[in-house]
Amino acid sequence: MRLSRLFTRTSKTVPADEVAKNAQLLIQAGFIHKEMAGVYAYLPLGVKVLEKIKHIVRQEMNSIGGQEVVMTTLQPRDIWEKTDRWDDKKVDNWFKTKLANGTELGVGLTHEEPIVDAVGSYVNSYKDLPFYVFQIGNKFRNELRAKSGLLRGREFVMKDMYSFARTQEEHEEMYEKAVEAYHRVYSRLGLGEITYRTYADGGIFTPRFSDEFQTLSEVGEDTIFVDEAKKIAVNEEIMTDENLEKIGLNRDDLVERRGVEVGNTFHLETKYTDALGVQFVDENGEKQSMIMGCYGIGVSRLMGVIAEHFSDDRGLVWPEEIAPAKVYLVRIGGEGAISCADALYDELISNGVEVVYDDRDERPGAKFADSELMGIPYRVTVSDRLVDAGKYELKPRSEGDVIELTHDELLAKLG
Ligand code: ATP
Ligand code: MG
Repeated sequence: MRLSRLFTRTSKTVPADEVAKNAQLLIQAGFIHKEMAGVYAYLPLGVKVLEKIKHIVRQEMNSIGGQEVVMTTLQPRDIWEKTDRWDDKKVDNWFKTKLANGTELGVGLTHEEPIVDAVGSYVNSYKDLPFYVFQIGNKFRNELRAKSGLLRGREFVMKDMYSFARTQEEHEEMYEKAVEAYHRVYSRLGLGEITYRTYADGGIFTPRFSDEFQTLSEVGEDTIFVDEAKKIAVNEEIMTDENLEKIGLNRDDLVERRGVEVGNTFHLETKYTDALGVQFVDENGEKQSMIMGCYGIGVSRLMGVIAEHFSDDRGLVWPEEIAPAKVYLVRIGGEGAISCADALYDELISNGVEVVYDDRDERPGAKFADSELMGIPYRVTVSDRLVDAGKYELKPRSEGDVIELTHDELLAKLG
């Protein structure tokens, strides 16, 4: 990526209409573009990060056997009537629309109904079960307030997965396996230490708890009570003596914190499969209901959480695994520096290292500032002085001093 060719720009001024740090930083650094409150476009640098987060989520869902699908945004009304949710007052943030002939449609805010309906077209026998289906795509919710940047979008990216099991025991096993995959996702994203499995309300149709995954943050909307030793938390909404006893936690061991819900997993039992008449025939030839779990991860919300958490007064500080590039290459000076930097750029790329190449005619200070604002893990500088000395300058974004390296040392370091 050559910055001289990149159509977007960084900005020195904090966008006046944004109060959320994640949105301010991501807009200033040229990662996202605001269309309207809660609706953001992803620019080239932002797409890189978003896709890397999706890649991690996808890998972990594949690792437990998840089968990826892409469901539709437009959803027919009739399947939602079968579950009594089309007119449900509790589903109060739904965008709905109409075909030219007046037929009403829902705009995807969640996908239980369409998934279960599709599964019913293919799965009949106990031999076809169990399995997980997942997708990564845009969801649309008419959120009342959308002031938190990527943390609360009206259009946002979610990974949603659904499990279909034959027995309660099989369901429990699948559920825990999904929870383990969730922990792997958050730790690969660098949030493992501050993300807690949190007991929360299970919803209206099950007496069981759901599990939220809450990342500690000052800007979190949820209040949770954390048992640091057990690495478990409880959402304020279910904090009763009776529930604590059920879960096996002691009020005295809990500390109050704020969290951002970055994932949520539910036991759906047979609510959707029963309502949509999706059953299977067991070994004895009898019809049985499939037992479901559902599992959401807020992919774009995670990008916002990471932007907030890994940042300082100079800008973003991406963890290497999801940074838009590994190296920010700064070129300072005349012909010698230009040909040396061009050669290094080509060489790094052919070694599989992603590079943002600052080949613009800008002041060195402006280039350094942009490299820090964008939060690329390593800054490499090529200048006339360094070319004469046969050296390259390397500076890590997060911490550590500037060091000078030879060509071979630099390549060994950057892989
Ligand atoms: P919240 O309580 O934050 O509104 P939710 O419980 O309604 O979220 P779920 O239906 O459980 O959300 O969706 C799964 C995940 O999708 C959530 O855990 C969250 O990470 C993410 N998510 C939900 N709503 C939004 C939104 N408006 N913007 C960005 N991410 C969201
Ligand atoms: Mg939730």
